[in-house]
Parts: sequence; structure tokens; C-alpha cells
Amino acid sequence: MGQKVEFIKSVVNLKDLPKEDYKEIVFVGRSNVGKSSLLNYLVGRNIARVGKTPGRTRAINFFLWNIENKKLFLVDLPGYGFARGKKDEVEYWKKLIEGYFRKNRKKIGLVFLLVDSKVGPTELDYQMINWLSSLGLPYVVLLTKIDKANQKELNNTLKKLQEVGVVYVIKTSAKDRKGKEEIFKVLKDFHLL
Ligand code: GDP
Repeated sequence: MGQKVEFIKSVVNLKDLPKEDYKEIVFVGRSNVGKSSLLNYLVGRNIARVGKTPGRTRAINFFLWNIENKKLFLVDLPGYGFARGKKDEVEYWKKLIEGYFRKNRKKIGLVFLLVDSKVGPTELDYQMINWLSSLGLPYVVLLTKIDKANQKELNNTLKKLQEVGVVYVIKTSAKDRKGKEEIFKVLKDFHLL
């Protein structure tokens, strides 16, 4: 399968959002959930920085993904939960993401919400689920780091997600290289690939 991925830009101001009309696949989750690692695993290249100081990446990063003769944007949203209590930063984050969701609603093909298998959904993940639902944005939960969770932890996480109505969940591990096929299948189901 031929694919190519290139970094396009980091956006901190909504006026700088890319003008191209490509469909967007969005990755969002709390800091340290394993988002960079999963993105790198998915595209088979180190495009996102792993293990950076939480909260250091405050921009929305756009990558152009040429795959199967299609052009898509992979959109890496800044991780949340890094600045609890720091009101200015939380406000900045909310404004940026809210503006992005609002402005690009029609371009967004799918949102992948990443949740740590072992930790389970956090308060901010529940807020994100509500937010995505109320905006009518399609989303799928990617459970990260399944290599770290035992069966009980995994079941607990799945149960919590089920309780809030999450139906589509994929188990992944960037470390053990698991979940890529299922992710591609979902992208096909959503007619993005
Ligand atoms: P981000 O902040 O969400 O982008 O998370 P990173 O990709 O930077 O990962 C945060 C930490 O979790 C790093 O120390 C990674 O090595 C670790 N990590 C990421 N994915 C996995 C995984 O699948 N399994 C395990 N065991 N650790 C992982």
C-alpha cells in the first residue's frame, strides 16, 4: 500500500487553518495518552514527537496524508489536562479547539478520541465525548497502551465507555504494534479511505 505523509503546518491562530478542502482525521486526548506514538505507528514514520513535556505542544498540527490515491489531513490536536488550574491556558485551549471544530465541522471526517486502557476515561474525556456528540461530530474511541492494562482494567474501561453510550472502540498498542488494521477498517467504514 503506497502512502506518503508530510508535515504541513502548526496552527495557533484560527485564521491560519489550511485552506485546502481535504477531509480531516482528528486525533485528540489527554496529554501522555500515547497520541504521538499512535500517530507514528499508524503512518509508519516519526511525524509526531513522543514523550515531550506535557503541555508543550499547544498548536494544532496538520499532516498531509497521501494514501491509496487519496489526500487527507491528519490533525493532531494539543493534548488536554496539562494545565488544570491554570485558567488562561485552559481558556486558550478551549477557544482554539472550539474554533477549529466550529470552522471545520464539515471537513472533519472522523475524530479519534484516545483513552488510556489502564487509566480509563477521565473527567475531561467525558466532557470531550459530550462536546463531540453535541456538535454532531463522528468519533471513535481508540484505547491506547493495551499492552499495559490487565483484563480487569480493560473490562473496567470498556464498561465505563459503554455506560456513556460509546459504541465504537478499538484496542491499540503502539508498543506492540496493534490496532492498525482495525483503524484502517474504520476509515473505510467512514468512507475516508
Ligand atoms: P502523547 O503525549 O499523548 O503524545 O503521548 P506519547 O506518544 O508522547 O506517549 C507518552 C508516553 O507513553 C511515552 O513515554 C510513550 O513511550 C508511552 N507509550 C505510548 N504508547 C505506548 C504503548 O502502546 N504502550 C506503552 N507501554 N507505552 C506507550
